[in-house]
Amino acid sequence: MSSKPISVLITGANRGLGLEMVKQMVETQRPLSVLFACCRDPDGPRAEALQALAKTHKDTIKVVRMDTADPSSVKQSAQQVGSLLGDKGFNLIINNAAILVHSNVANSTPEDMTNHFNTNVIGPMSLIQEFLPYLRTAAKQSEMPGMSCRKAAVVNVSSTLGSIQHTPESYEHFMAVPYRVTKAALNMLIACAAVELQKDQILCSLIHPGWVRTDMGGANALLDAPESVQGMLQVINSMTEKHNGTLQDYQGQSIPW
Ligand code: NDP
Repeated sequence: MSSKPISVLITGANRGLGLEMVKQMVETQRPLSVLFACCRDPDGPRAEALQALAKTHKDTIKVVRMDTADPSSVKQSAQQVGSLLGDKGFNLIINNAAILVHSNVANSTPEDMTNHFNTNVIGPMSLIQEFLPYLRTAAKQSEMPGMSCRKAAVVNVSSTLGSIQHTPESYEHFMAVPYRVTKAALNMLIACAAVELQKDQILCSLIHPGWVRTDMGGANALLDAPESVQGMLQVINSMTEKHNGTLQDYQGQSIPW
């Protein structure tokens, strides 16, 4: 594995799995040149834990304001990140931010569906679009053969709830229709991006974190965030061109669409 320092950007980095990823990345990913930890309200109470972590690792963690549901906010963040990068590229984006509202087909509103699309699908799409020049630069600057997350990659946090094949067995227990629909759409977005960006040697992949005790996963979930993130980072670190356009879980098991 190359020892060239890598640069990473994580969305929804102020709580839940995003915050745990920031924690574990600064502790274990070596060498790490910069970690852009994005959240929509860096000065608010929900970002206090992230700000405290950033203070401890002030040479590595840069907290960036980004509302992933707002394409103009994503654009502004990309400009800010670009000015910090100079002529250097940028290796890895982790599209982690997402929302989930519990509703079934009968009571989901158009507004619920629109909000989920804005955050869970248009957000990751805007990030790919705005950060593509930096990913391309990183891929060109890299001397590593093939594809990897140390070269240039977009890893997207998806869910088994987006799997159409799994729906008959899981729907009665967990409806969340707009969430399911938008995670399935995210899977397709990334399957398309994986084909489109292959020529640039940019790896595009999806990962399911398991069912995790966070605000979204709830208290009855099966895993704690540290275990899930440890697994996801191992999977992310071992991704190659074989994983371009695929969906795996935090243990590296492949998940049917
Ligand atoms: P949480 O609800 O705990 O955290 C969600 C994060 O996303 C928060 O940081 C939140 O920020 C951020 N976010 C939401 N909307 C926006 C936005 N418009 N702009 C910027 N940030 C935003 O969720 P988890 O940590 O559990 O989930 C992380 C990822 O894992 C998601 O993609 C989720 O779908 C996926 N996942 C989670 C599972 C679980 O069991 N927990 C299972 C399967 C998948 P803010 O504080 O500002 O709201």
